[in-house]
Amino acid sequence: MNSTLRVLESIPDVEIRRDEPLARHTTFRVGGPVRLLARPRSERALFALLDSIRELGVPFIILGEGSNVLAPDEVWDMVVIQLHLACNGLLPDSRKTQGGGVVYAGAGAKLAELIRFCIENDLEGLEGLAGVPATVGGALFMNASTFSGAISDCLVHIDLLDCDGSKRSVGRQQLSPGYRTMGIAENCIILGACFELGACPKRVLKERVETLLKKRRKSQPLRYPSAGSIFKNPAGQFAGALIEKAGLKGYRVGDAEISKKHANWIVNRGKATAKEIVELIEKTENIVYGTFGVRLEREIRILKTAV
Ligand SMILES: Cc1cc2nc3c(=O)[nH]c(=O)nc-3n(C[C@H](O)[C@H](O)[C@H](O)COP(=O)(O)OP(=O)(O)OC[C@H]3O[C@@H](n4cnc5c(N)ncnc54)[C@H](O)[C@@H]3O)c2cc1C
Repeated sequence: MNSTLRVLESIPDVEIRRDEPLARHTTFRVGGPVRLLARPRSERALFALLDSIRELGVPFIILGEGSNVLAPDEVWDMVVIQLHLACNGLLPDSRKTQGGGVVYAGAGAKLAELIRFCIENDLEGLEGLAGVPATVGGALFMNASTFSGAISDCLVHIDLLDCDGSKRSVGRQQLSPGYRTMGIAENCIILGACFELGACPKRVLKERVETLLKKRRKSQPLRYPSAGSIFKNPAGQFAGALIEKAGLKGYRVGDAEISKKHANWIVNRGKATAKEIVELIEKTENIVYGTFGVRLEREIRILKTAV
């Protein structure tokens, strides 16, 4: 691995950190050191990095805000790539739609910045996602959604990099967005996307966002590190309600706790480990299945040490 790392470190215009604790890059604040964290500073540097990674046959993943993942506790022989410095632009498109507008967002930009940009430009459509901590790439990969709608609702196309390094644009109609999925293959990299938005005065949009954030603060345990909802809602039911009815609110394994405020959230009450969180997830699945016969499906992505 060492000679491989040296090759990757020699690529110009890539910020490299060796043995970087992933706890610093996940909202759960959990995760041991990853062999290499790479942040290309340009699209060109990203492509050069990926060419070398492919040549060397090194496993890699893209990490956004790390808000829907559980990273392993142990040293992880992996290259983690973040796009924050390479694909972070927000550009209004010259195409004007009836009253609204088109915006192009780089995958490494923060979703919150994109929403702010839309509001400043009197554009509606994405403000319902306010409060989802994500990069644009992560929000697209997961098809982030709230009761107000999904990111796919105003999507025009996504720019992707295939596993063989070829770049292509995929229109909304060619995608199969669903509940926490955009139907994009694991080995594809989202570079950016174009959104078509309606027109709405910024005053109204700001009020909407304020109301949504107030609701989130009231119902979600935002005081502690977490990854948001752990399980998808089964058809016609709420995962949180099932977990609560099973008497699991406040149940703990070490510092990992089923939130007393929202039972579909696990919070890190201090020094929770991935192992403790996984144990708590499995216990919850078994108890809910044993009590109601419902198999909970995980929303959180558990990153594995072996790939
Ligand atoms: C407090 C809190 C509230 C939340 N509320 C919501 C909510 O209301 N609705 C909701 O849907 N989710 C919610 N989530 C979950 C999470 O924020 C979303 O799933 C978000 O879309 C993840 O984005 P991310 O950038 O953090 O992706 P990450 O967690 O970093 O990655 C998630 C997956 O996407 C892949 N990925 C990331 N970027 C790219 C890319 N550029 N190309 C290819 N693959 C990529 C990663 O490899 C990984 O498999 C919440 C989480 C928290 C902590």
